[in-house]
Amino acid sequence: MKYIKSDYEVFELELKSYPFPCKLCKKEQAIIEIPSQKIKVCKDCYNQFFENRIKKAIESYKMFKTYDKIGVFLSGGKDSATLLAVLKKLYPEVALQGIYINLGIRYYSDKAEEVVIKLCKKLNVPLYIYNLPKEENFRIDDFIFTYFKNKICSVCGAIKRYLFSKIAKNLGLTVIATGHHLDDTVSTMLNLFFQGDFESLVKLEPVLKPLYTGQATKIKPLYTTPEKEIFFYAVLNELPIVNFVCPHADFTSIKKKKKFLEDLSKENRQIKYQLLSVFLKKLIPLIKSHPQYKEKLVQPVNICIKCGEATSSSDQICSRCKRIALLNKVSDKTLELSYQEFLKYVEKLDKEKIAIFVVNEETDIFPNAIYISSEFLNVSKRKFLKFFKPYKDKILFFYSSDPKQSYLFVLKLKKAGFKVFNIKSVSF
Ligand SMILES: [Zn+2]
Ligand SMILES: [Zn+2]
Repeated sequence: MKYIKSDYEVFELELKSYPFPCKLCKKEQAIIEIPSQKIKVCKDCYNQFFENRIKKAIESYKMFKTYDKIGVFLSGGKDSATLLAVLKKLYPEVALQGIYINLGIRYYSDKAEEVVIKLCKKLNVPLYIYNLPKEENFRIDDFIFTYFKNKICSVCGAIKRYLFSKIAKNLGLTVIATGHHLDDTVSTMLNLFFQGDFESLVKLEPVLKPLYTGQATKIKPLYTTPEKEIFFYAVLNELPIVNFVCPHADFTSIKKKKKFLEDLSKENRQIKYQLLSVFLKKLIPLIKSHPQYKEKLVQPVNICIKCGEATSSSDQICSRCKRIALLNKVSDKTLELSYQEFLKYVEKLDKEKIAIFVVNEETDIFPNAIYISSEFLNVSKRKFLKFFKPYKDKILFFYSSDPKQSYLFVLKLKKAGFKVFNIKSVSF
């Protein structure tokens, strides 16, 4: 099985029957390697090794009590899926709640929702679904019409944080568990360290106590688990997970940051654990005890006058509400047209003013269309924009019988300031 991560790195796993028994139980046939240990083991031993490390993290950081109600926000990806499965298996007596927020990301959110439904059915965990477009009448894609068009992931983060907190309150959750793993944590720590952002570093602790009453405790049970082993666990236990990347993921920026850490790991297999330990046991306590930070960390929490959620913003409007206010100023959020709408749109337009691109196929529906391969999405930003530069003054239309492919072009070009639409369906 192949898995494409959000930074477009690919994980691969093929289970095979090795011609020797499991290195741990010495009975069953070995079928999988534990990457961090470089030993080949059977399925049961892999699971036991994997689950024990999580159990140890949960217990040593005292993450929750058996009477807590724990919510797991599911993205459809391997991390949250594995987290839910392991919590259910290790603590069958604890009240678990799966939650899925459908953010209205076209060609992504609905598919991920289907996967999450399957996962919760398989694990027999109750699932609560919140549909952003239905509840609040906007979708994450709409931010492409605002000045945050190149920062969609950060806007999405602000909106999700607000919803995490609101949903946790409504469902009476006392604990929110997130799927942050070792690799996430250490690479974020290093980046914050290089940026000198010590305040944010403190937020990377495995347990974050509530800042005010009524807020849930946030815990990271996968804190000490390497990412690759999470993927192996998900595959080995046949957990339903999505195998496609969010269309807004910008792979070029994330990839570079992680590469440094991966290079270090090649020299020293324990480096991630060593860094985690230095940050957690030395640096974070030092930051927390420094008078300057102490003052900042205990600053009073403001309440947003628009949504009532806590905010650190001094003007009492949280970042989520500020961003949503921008959407209200956008009158037309059309990114997609049906074929009929397209015909109507171009009816009165000068043919010179438009350009039609057809992705991955030849078609006679659009006789003057320009063929383009979806491979072109992977070229450098510079090369991509150079190709489309001659069309800057035109209105561009993209079509593919797999509308996700053409939609990816539309998003990329819209972010670069083009006037562009996806033709989503062709029926006569
Ligand atoms: Zn074994
Ligand atoms: Zn607000």
